[in-house]
Amino acid sequence: MSTLPIILSQRIDSTSNYKDVPFSLYHYPKRYRNQVNTGDTFIYYQGDRFKRENRYYFGFGVIGKIEASKDGEDYYAEILEGTQFSNKVPIYKPSGGFFESEDYQEVREKPTPAWQSSARKISNKAFNEILKAANIENETLSLYGAISNIESQADPILVLKLLNEKYRSFSPEKKDRLISTHVDRGTSVTNALKEVLGPQCQICGHIGFNKKNGGRYIEAHHLVQIALKKEDSLCSDNVILVCPNCHREIHHGEIDVEDRVNQIFIRLGTKEAIVNKNTVEYLDKYLKTHQTNHP
Ligand SMILES: [Zn+2]
Ligand SMILES: [Zn+2]
Repeated sequence: MSTLPIILSQRIDSTSNYKDVPFSLYHYPKRYRNQVNTGDTFIYYQGDRFKRENRYYFGFGVIGKIEASKDGEDYYAEILEGTQFSNKVPIYKPSGGFFESEDYQEVREKPTPAWQSSARKISNKAFNEILKAANIENETLSLYGAISNIESQADPILVLKLLNEKYRSFSPEKKDRLISTHVDRGTSVTNALKEVLGPQCQICGHIGFNKKNGGRYIEAHHLVQIALKKEDSLCSDNVILVCPNCHREIHHGEIDVEDRVNQIFIRLGTKEAIVNKNTVEYLDKYLKTHQTNHP
């Protein structure tokens, strides 16, 4: 299934929470719920009711998890991979006409964009041309496409395989720039690991508590810190699932770690554990044995 990209209207000129809301969370009313879907790529648009000169595009990203408010009137979409353009892109193409009028027939009847709509579809051509005007490299684009496709895959092993391949091919600087929000928010890799292994601490076996909005709580620890910018540090075999207690102890307690190729020996205070590295091979095997145990 291929979905068209969307435009999200977001004010940045007149608000003080520039850093907090844009590029991390998008809040929209119920009537746009069918326009915004997990995995959609989007471009941010700053509107202005009166002056067209003040209308421009300023960033892009991928829609993550979506939650509705209790009364169902408001929706909140997590923003993944949020990236700000280095230059604002005006709504007019240098050659004339609106960017959003490119291939408009794919998304609406009239060539003029629905400027007042908070969330609106655009054609792939319009999307690509805006990003080109923002000087976003092709390499980045294919990465975004890949990530939004990966996240809509249902099979967690496949998700991890694809993400690992992606992460391994990044240089550390690029990883830092593009992926850090993604990983800090504990999304793809952690979620896929959770789906395969269950919400269980890989050190002590503790099972995460029930969260009030459903699902169970478990944390992810990166064996090689992302901050060290080491190659591969974002791959699944560098991540272990841990309960909050063990996680705190890893960071603040006495810890001994020994790398044993496919396993890691961890001593935390008086606890000792041999943890399997979460390689795709290991996870695949794990899933198979667990499926045969529970037909
Ligand atoms: Zn634990
Ligand atoms: Zn940690």
